[in-house]
Amino acid sequence: MSGGIAKAACMIHVDRAATARCPSCRRFFCGECVTEHDGKLVCAACLGAEVAGRKTETGRRLALHPVSWVQYGLALAIVWVLFYFFARFLGEIPDAFHDGTIWE
Ligand SMILES: [Zn+2]
Ligand SMILES: [Zn+2]
Repeated sequence: MSGGIAKAACMIHVDRAATARCPSCRRFFCGECVTEHDGKLVCAACLGAEVAGRKTETGRRLALHPVSWVQYGLALAIVWVLFYFFARFLGEIPDAFHDGTIWE
């Protein structure tokens, strides 16, 4: 560690003095290039990589959940619609049908 952070320049803005060091890639950055994440300052590239990695991880874990919920909802809607029209159909049958007089 020669010089340290005081003499280091930002990896992206070479004319700016570094104010933070990314703990993931060990490179120096200015305050504008780092973001606080999980209580530590990481650079945009490492933050993006971490967020992308997390997304695929949770996406894989919850992969079945949204699909099954959609299927539940769809099945419920179909059943509801079927019963609704069946009930309407029953309601619209004329009384004469029950009496048997409709066939005369
Ligand atoms: Zn980094
Ligand atoms: Zn910078």
